[in-house]
Amino acid sequence: MAIELMSDALSNKIAAGEVVERPASVIKELVENSIDANSQMIKVDVYEAGLMRMKVTDDGDGMTESDASVAFLRHATSKIKSEQDLFHVRTLGFRGEALASIAAVSKLTLKTSTGDGAGILIQYEGGKEISREKADARKGTEITVDQLFFNTPARLKYMKTIHTELGHITDVINRLSLSHPGIRFTLAHNDKVIFKSNGRGDLLQIIAQIYGVNVAKKMINIEHKTLDYTISGYIAKPEVTRSGRQYLSTLVNGRFVRSVILNKAILSGYHTLLPIGRHPIVVLQIEMDPILVDVNVHPTKLDVRFSKEKELFIAIETAIKNAFRQERLIPDYTEKKPKLKKEVSEQASFSFDHTSSDIPDTERKQVSDLNARVNNQDSAAVDESDRDETGMNNFVPQIDELTDHSSDDRNITRDIEQHAATAFPETVHENTERLPEATVDSSSVNEQMMEDEREDAANNSRMPLMYPVGQHHGTYIIAENDQGMYVIDQHAAQERIKYEYYRDKIVEVDPVLQELLVPMTFDFSKQEALLIEQYQTDFEAIGLFFEPFGQQTYRITAHPNWFPAGFEEETIRDIIAQIIEDEKIDLKKLREDAAILMACKKSIKANHHLNYDDMFELLETLRKTEDPFTCPHGRPIVIHFSTYELEKMFKRIM
Ligand code: ADP
Ligand code: MG
Repeated sequence: MAIELMSDALSNKIAAGEVVERPASVIKELVENSIDANSQMIKVDVYEAGLMRMKVTDDGDGMTESDASVAFLRHATSKIKSEQDLFHVRTLGFRGEALASIAAVSKLTLKTSTGDGAGILIQYEGGKEISREKADARKGTEITVDQLFFNTPARLKYMKTIHTELGHITDVINRLSLSHPGIRFTLAHNDKVIFKSNGRGDLLQIIAQIYGVNVAKKMINIEHKTLDYTISGYIAKPEVTRSGRQYLSTLVNGRFVRSVILNKAILSGYHTLLPIGRHPIVVLQIEMDPILVDVNVHPTKLDVRFSKEKELFIAIETAIKNAFRQERLIPDYTEKKPKLKKEVSEQASFSFDHTSSDIPDTERKQVSDLNARVNNQDSAAVDESDRDETGMNNFVPQIDELTDHSSDDRNITRDIEQHAATAFPETVHENTERLPEATVDSSSVNEQMMEDEREDAANNSRMPLMYPVGQHHGTYIIAENDQGMYVIDQHAAQERIKYEYYRDKIVEVDPVLQELLVPMTFDFSKQEALLIEQYQTDFEAIGLFFEPFGQQTYRITAHPNWFPAGFEEETIRDIIAQIIEDEKIDLKKLREDAAILMACKKSIKANHHLNYDDMFELLETLRKTEDPFTCPHGRPIVIHFSTYELEKMFKRIM
């Protein structure tokens, strides 16, 4: 067997396999280069989702003729010089592979100029230079990639539909504009502009553009600084959730990264505020000394490694928790309000122009500020379920519209279908929710905000003082104050109260064991029995002493005091399940699950009549809890009907 060095052409093609997976990865590399070259404006033109042609134009530094030739050699980079630099990477690129790899699998044209004398135009085919000439002197760079994978047909076969590929490209541009709000981005498909950002550096405006104005309105700004980290960005109020994790955007030193640790920290910050299985919308910017993060883990640089994981986790968790501590999180019933037929047909062609003269000026400005540059390609995507065929009937507000997320899931299913139809997935999804509420909701936003401010001034507690007026079906407490009417789920309220009570109590009674008069015996599976042997010391550490009592049977004569009575076996099985999954016992989490369980069991159920004093006391105790807005399972406890909305419903004001 003769060992030979690969030709450059071959090794470039192989390297391309790592960074150039699909058109979207080409766009990512080219746009990142434009960002690294200090561009203010970046325009991306794709044709047939990039499979036919992709063109990235920037107004950055440009390259001299000699730099331009070198740039296409493998491992050619202007960004790092020494190994030492690798620990201080501030640029998005640094591996010097992208241009060589892209050129190797396409027909590529580079036009570039430093603005200093004439520019240069070089054409490559399959990585080989085929022509070179002088070009105009406009400062910046334009790279056109034609017929991607023309010489690697096997790759082409992996390409999905035009819509899927365009969806990926949109994602890339969304992410890059989130991480660089100061750059003006334009994305056009087949000469039609589908995304545009204004480059004014306003992150919330970009969020509005990507996720919709109504999501942007529900975002809370966060700022948190520790010795090592500066955390900022926006987090959605817990009432706005999605079923997928892809709405968590994490940026480290301006680089979009994917990290299990960061996601876990975010979810931990939301803690019991989210319904099970739901995810928030978050855009988190984390600044740190580059020495604390290794970006050289994977060729696409999407995965990173942090050196002080635990500190980072706590910093993020704290940033989010602190932000919520200062917020009032009572959802208002105006969410997803069903609309009259007439309004809906107008909304079907709703364009984000709030120019009609009956909208107050201040408010028009507020809405149009956010709406202004949102594109309106997809007005056809109105959620069918929000259309109202019966006129008045649906105008009676339905409480379950607020808590039922299943319609959201329906949207997501449709979203997937529409991915193919419009190739602008996130915006489409948002519009299905946004369009129906936009016209009516917007007219109450300003009033609502003024009202909120009045409330905040009136009392400093996160939960306002509420006076019971009665009870509905022995299940909901109706209460009021001068800001309007409140409906409180009494079971959820008590669950929250009990949960916080047990959570604290369980921590206190940690080492105490409950001696059992009659030992308990448990039968376990082979696997469970093995684990009990294997983790014996861990079990003993938390106060569980198993004595073998036959083949796969064990007995215990005591258990930790915090075990919920009547659920001993369930709790032990929970611990075993935890060991199987995490290979360790997480006492904190176990206790918390136990607290939730006890809270739920001991709380008053529906159909339980309360007198005025009971109700008043329940509301007061609720007010004193740490998180009075959601039960431990993340369901809302209180819903607010503002006086203004009530008056509107009864047409006292129009
Ligand atoms: P890397 O980004 O890892 O350095 P690339 O292969 O992506 O490697 O690019 C090689 C070099 O070409 C860069 O280091 C940079 O000097 C130059 N370059 C690429 N794109 C541009 C651009 N749009 N404007 C200016 N210089 C560029
Ligand atoms: Mg690069």
